[in-house]
Amino acid sequence: MSEHVHVRLNQGLGVSENGELVEHLSCRCGATWTKSYQVQGDDSE
Ligand SMILES: [Zn+2]
Repeated sequence: MSEHVHVRLNQGLGVSENGELVEHLSCRCGATWTKSYQVQGDDSE
C-alpha cells in the first residue's frame, strides 16, 4: 500500500443523544471518521 493522505470531506453535522456535536467526514478511498465535540454549556443559564 502506498502512502495515502486522506482527504477529509465534510459529510454533514449531527447531534448525538448526549447533545454532542458530531461531524461526519469521509475520504474518496472510503475511510470515514466521526468527530464529536463536547458542547460546553451549563444549564445554569
Ligand atoms: Zn483516504
